[in-house]
Amino acid sequence: MSNFRALVLHEEGGKVVPRLETVDEARLPPGEVTVAVEYSTLNYKDGMILEGQGRLVRAYPHVPGIDFAGTVLASDSPEFRPGDPVVLTGWRVGEAQWGGYAERARVKAEYLVRRPDGLSARQAMAIGTAGFTAMLAVIALEKHGLRPDAGPGANEVLVTGAAGGVGSVAVSLLAALGYRVAASTGRPELRDYLEGLGAAELIDRAALSAKPSRPLDRERWAGAVDAVGGATLATVLTQLKYRASVAACGLAGGSDLPASVIPFLLRGVNLLGIDSVMCPRAERIEAWNRLARDLPLDRLEAMTQTVPLAEVPALAPRILKGEVRGRIVIDLAA
Ligand code: NDP
Repeated sequence: MSNFRALVLHEEGGKVVPRLETVDEARLPPGEVTVAVEYSTLNYKDGMILEGQGRLVRAYPHVPGIDFAGTVLASDSPEFRPGDPVVLTGWRVGEAQWGGYAERARVKAEYLVRRPDGLSARQAMAIGTAGFTAMLAVIALEKHGLRPDAGPGANEVLVTGAAGGVGSVAVSLLAALGYRVAASTGRPELRDYLEGLGAAELIDRAALSAKPSRPLDRERWAGAVDAVGGATLATVLTQLKYRASVAACGLAGGSDLPASVIPFLLRGVNLLGIDSVMCPRAERIEAWNRLARDLPLDRLEAMTQTVPLAEVPALAPRILKGEVRGRIVIDLAA
């Protein structure tokens, strides 16, 4: 097949306009591996790109989609053969070059990870960039001493933006690993959902989202995964236990950090930056293998809804407003 279906963004009169189109394969960017894309997803960054926010895309027409899973169709690389199951996240695919909202994608071989055994293309995308980021956050916290068997008083982990994509996977993963998870959310009506993923306690988002009123608060968390940033991250820093760490993943609540240096000086806390985009390949493979092993697939199912490509533009403003629950998988065949 030399033509394929894609969601193409055009810039018209200063606005970004999406259209479902048939595209000739010759228009794909250069790359060593051509993939038949089966599933992609809607992440916060995709929402920004679809809504034309943040100047993430510089050249139009553009095919968005920062992640995808599928099967190799053609390969100039000795590492991949036609038929190989693969997954891609990051590398600015879907931003600086065409991404996964299409039945075909072409990328450098080094961008692809072989899908772990036992993980279907749909499951890999139910995890997607958000889940991969949550896994990187957990690995970073563990490298800084977090342990589930440390017992009560030393294994409480806070997840902020808990009902979103990164948050939902982080809650499930941490609970499955044996941590006691506190889920911070602005949506108390999602209590059953978050408890179903393994949260032991719900924290009102408002309790964390004001600028901290004092440089140190009560020591509460042995670790934290933060998808919100801004004043929330600053507040989390004041509540970490001695030498505990927060993995900073996102900025859904703002990019300014109104923090004091005091928690670093008087409690030796760590602020760990999580970057899923340029993350080195060996770490990617480790993270995907751990996701396949550690993330309960029934909980993954509970946090996922699947939509056709045509429904994606209408969902973009909703993810930016924090209205989407869990993960949205896009079925390219639907
Ligand atoms: P989602 O929109 O799915 O989740 C974000 C969640 O944050 C919402 O569901 C909501 O959770 C909470 N939230 C939203 N707005 C606010 C607000 N104003 N104040 C406080 N909380 C808010 O996004 P993702 O999970 O996909 O991504 C989360 C963040 O992580 C984004 O900033 C994204 O860009 C970033 N990210 C970073 C990556 C990296 O490599 N570092 C990779 C992937 C994502 P609730 O309703 O439970 O309160």
